[in-house]
Amino acid sequence: MLLLTCPYCGVDADETELTPGGEAHLTRHGAGANDDDFEAYLFMRKNPKGVHFERWRHAFGCGKWFHAARCTMTLEVFGTYEAQTFEPPKALINKIKKKRPDFEGFAK
Ligand SMILES: [Zn+2]
Repeated sequence: MLLLTCPYCGVDADETELTPGGEAHLTRHGAGANDDDFEAYLFMRKNPKGVHFERWRHAFGCGKWFHAARCTMTLEVFGTYEAQTFEPPKALINKIKKKRPDFEGFAK
């Protein structure tokens, strides 16, 4: 069972309390963007075998969106953090690198 700690209310929420929101840290392109950037924003998503940064909503709790770093192979959760960031916190990246020396770091 997937357990994520909501960074806002501190509750350890299981998957029945959460709603997935896909990949975290997408760059949104507006009306002035070229076709390639807009296509990438709409359709192109990472599908890594390993560490992935995702959006989750504590739907049956405080209702807020947050981000989680998790391994897609083992389902190990490295940590969660608030959604109002452009990239994962450095402390979380360092924690992941200690556990997974082959992890190359966050890349957009
Ligand atoms: Zn919450």
